[in-house]
Amino acid sequence: MTFPTLGLIDPLLRALDTLGYEKPTPVQAQAIPAVLAGRDLMAAAQTGTGKTAGFALPLLQRLTMQGPQVAANSVRLLVLVPTRELAVQVYDSFCAYGQNLPLRMALAYGGVSINPQMMKLRRGADLLVATPGRLLDLHRQNALKFGQLEALVLDEADRMLDLGFSRELNDIFALLPAQRQTLLFSATFSDAIRGLANTLLRQPLSIEA
Ligand code: AMP
Repeated sequence: MTFPTLGLIDPLLRALDTLGYEKPTPVQAQAIPAVLAGRDLMAAAQTGTGKTAGFALPLLQRLTMQGPQVAANSVRLLVLVPTRELAVQVYDSFCAYGQNLPLRMALAYGGVSINPQMMKLRRGADLLVATPGRLLDLHRQNALKFGQLEALVLDEADRMLDLGFSRELNDIFALLPAQRQTLLFSATFSDAIRGLANTLLRQPLSIEA
């Protein structure tokens, strides 16, 4: 298996070359074609499996291929993560994989001033990596609209529930258009995660890595 045979476009392949990635990990080999085809995904994957590229590469490609211009204060792809550290890490990964693509990327987490994050979102963002509480704050301040949302990723969903974000997540889901692609990544699959998957995902492909 190689990255070109998975159907990735040249700007992404060049980025992977620069990063020195030679071949896809098992989770990438399973996730990339399915996500490119627009499917929902439920993935049991720990950190270290290459899961971030597994969702970032195909979603960057879809944003590029299908792209309407993003409107002011709008976001097309929302990636929810449990912590500021993971937010930074996932955002950096999107920047690295998308280095040859003309996409606007934004990052938002709590514990720092909201104003620069609001400024950044004024012109809209093709993708936003965010923690749940700050995302809701941004929405309450009218800095974010979800009418243009095409896809949602929940990364480390089990940690989000462990950290008590269940209420915030439900408030967020209520704001999002029903017509969208949804990907759920979790290291473990408790009843709560399965319940979340059942309400959020439509005929998902299930993968394990
Ligand atoms: P993750 O599981 O997404 O946190 O990724 C773990 C680490 O593996 C990160 O440092 C990635 O840069 C790296 N990585 C992901 N996919 C590949 C790949 N196909 N080849 C080499 N390194 C990779």
